[in-house]
Formats: sequence, C-alpha cells, structure tokens
Amino acid sequence: MTTIEQLFNCSFMQNVELQSDQTAQLAETFGLLADPTRLSIVVVCMEREISAGDIADELGLSASLVSHHLRLLRAARMLRAERRGKQVFYSMADDCVRDVLKIMIDHLFTHEHGGSDEPQEGEQ
Ligand SMILES: [Zn+2]
Repeated sequence: MTTIEQLFNCSFMQNVELQSDQTAQLAETFGLLADPTRLSIVVVCMEREISAGDIADELGLSASLVSHHLRLLRAARMLRAERRGKQVFYSMADDCVRDVLKIMIDHLFTHEHGGSDEPQEGEQ
C-alpha cells in the first residue's frame, strides 16, 4: 500500500508543524498567487515552456509587466527560466508547484464534494 507520504515523496506530510518564519514564507508564496494577472502567467506555464514574449501576447499584457511578474515568480521558485539563444523560456519550477495548482483547480471546478456548500442550520 502506498502511504500519502510515499505518494507525495515528502517527509513533511506526517508532521506538519511550521516555524513562524516558515508560515510567513508560505503565506508570502501563496500571496504571490493571489494576484489574478500573476496567477494567469503561472497557469500559462503549467503545461509547456513558453517565452516571455509569447506569455505577453497570449495574455494581452505588456512585456514589462510580464517580466516584472516573472521576476517575482522566479525568485519565489515557482517558475524556472532557461535561456535558449536570444529567448528565455519559462516553465514550472517542478512538479510540486504544478500539482498544488492542479489540485486546487480540481478542488474548485471538478470535485463533487459531499454535502452542501451552505452551512446547515445551527452551524456557523
Ligand atoms: Zn477537493
């Protein structure tokens, strides 16, 4: 049987206890995704490598805005960049980031969760 720990290849799963600075770092990382423009850039990079210019074209954004967001996303280790010739291509830093996004997308738009979204009478 595969444990969830093996499934996610992550020793962290068993004992999730964060130091306050780690919680702050986690909040900062999720905070980066709280901007719809920045999030749309990440989503564009989810399934393929793409140049900054193509990201800008695809999303109808200015090149300078896209490069500003790309800088932040790279610094946060969500995206990675690879130079090929004159162009820099962006993709997900690794499968962890992609999986987190896929899981949240599925959770919001695919999963049929049991029970109602509305709190039952007497519940808060
Ligand atoms: Zn779910």
